[in-house]
Amino acid sequence: MSRSPRLVAVSNRVGPVKGAAAAGGLAVALVGALRERGGIWFGWSGRTVGAGKARLHTEKADGITLATIDLSQHDYDGYYNGFSNNCLWPLLHFRIDLIKFERAQLETYWSVNRRFAQSLAKLLRPDDLVWVHDFHLLPLAEELRRQRMRQRIGFFLHTPFPPTEILSTLPVHESLTRALFAYDLIGFQTEDDLARFRDHVVRACGGRARGEKVSAFGREIRVGAFPIGIDVDQFKRYAFTAPGNKEYARMRKVLRGRDQFIGVDRLDYSKGLLRRMDAFGRYLESHPRAHGKVILLQVAPVSRGSIESYRNFRQELDREAARVNGRFARFDWTPVHYLNRALPRRTLAGLYRASRVGIVTPMRDGMNLVAMEYLAAQDAANPGVLVLSRFAGAAQYLREALLVNPYDGEETAEAMHLAREMTLQERRRRHEALMRRLEAHNVDRWRRDFVNALADAPAWLKATRKKS
Ligand code: ADP
Repeated sequence: MSRSPRLVAVSNRVGPVKGAAAAGGLAVALVGALRERGGIWFGWSGRTVGAGKARLHTEKADGITLATIDLSQHDYDGYYNGFSNNCLWPLLHFRIDLIKFERAQLETYWSVNRRFAQSLAKLLRPDDLVWVHDFHLLPLAEELRRQRMRQRIGFFLHTPFPPTEILSTLPVHESLTRALFAYDLIGFQTEDDLARFRDHVVRACGGRARGEKVSAFGREIRVGAFPIGIDVDQFKRYAFTAPGNKEYARMRKVLRGRDQFIGVDRLDYSKGLLRRMDAFGRYLESHPRAHGKVILLQVAPVSRGSIESYRNFRQELDREAARVNGRFARFDWTPVHYLNRALPRRTLAGLYRASRVGIVTPMRDGMNLVAMEYLAAQDAANPGVLVLSRFAGAAQYLREALLVNPYDGEETAEAMHLAREMTLQERRRRHEALMRRLEAHNVDRWRRDFVNALADAPAWLKATRKKS
């Protein structure tokens, strides 16, 4: 048994342990880390129950303790649908126009964080390392400190961090930023996100930023960029063994020599789906020789469907896909294949492998794992080409992709053309370089780097005393 401190991971949802690989990115990474250190994974159970009936459930799975609490419908609406997804998500993706700020929802968000903290505090040991994930839980450390918790607590933001001018439009930006200073370490996806955080602390909060130390509100904390990655070997295996390789063979048969462009995204306005459809239409418009020879497969499962901006967006996308098909389809060729379904990861791997071009063109994205999955699923001897938005965190290190500005439909259309025409030699050169980068940034490294940095951060008491 290792003597390193126990790890306690906290995220909005607690994923499956047994089927973690099927659930993807975060679940794989956390289960790996928790198994290594024998830990707890704490979060919402995914169940809504009657008010006052919320309970703490604990169960053991594979040496990991899963601890979950239920939410009432009212809590779920205010905390999750409301403040998290209708206010913070658009804010963090630079979409001021879509923000719906309601004080009542903010209060529910904060009170759910308090309830999380009260339940979690009962499970913590003094030397635990606590790792909190994502924007649903910004105030969790502050609430844990109120419960007299003195453990090292780290926070990782999976989304982008916006410029201070955008963040400052949120009426409560200062209390949220102050709450972040109850953490000991804050991790961001990219150096750019980190720079924007430091800038916000200095310009909007009167704080100071020196190297990896940032201070404000009477506290000094550590910050860093920890770009998340995927389990590259596992995804490769998915693409080249059953059932992924069977899906691949089936897809190839269906394609009958046509080239497939693939997009795989939650149906979210940040993913650039409307502009992507438009760019594909422009590509077909300016390259008539591609007619009948290329299809765009867009897999986009419905997400956050009870929120109005998402429903409106879905309708617009339905119209845009229909417009492109209406304009270009022939009786023997439909250019856009558009599915609103989630697919098993192994099926996805087979589909990526069968696709000549991966189209990942978010308007803004924390990192984007689909770009990495597409690359890992390619045959190194005859790889496809990744077209990637400059505004995805992944573009900061996947430099050999065809980088595009998704606001520029012509440039994106031209990249689709270049990707399809690229020589085998050039495709191999780029793919080799990209795979080296993926392997260097894999998910194991991400979690090891973060957890080590958290373990090395000064303890809460020491940091606080220094100030007083
Ligand atoms: P986000 O976290 O914003 O949804 P990412 O690209 O970082 O974006 O991660 C998305 C994850 O969800 C990837 O692992 C991807 O494989 C998975 N995913 C996206 N669309 C589907 C789908 N239709 N079926 C199954 N998994 C999907």
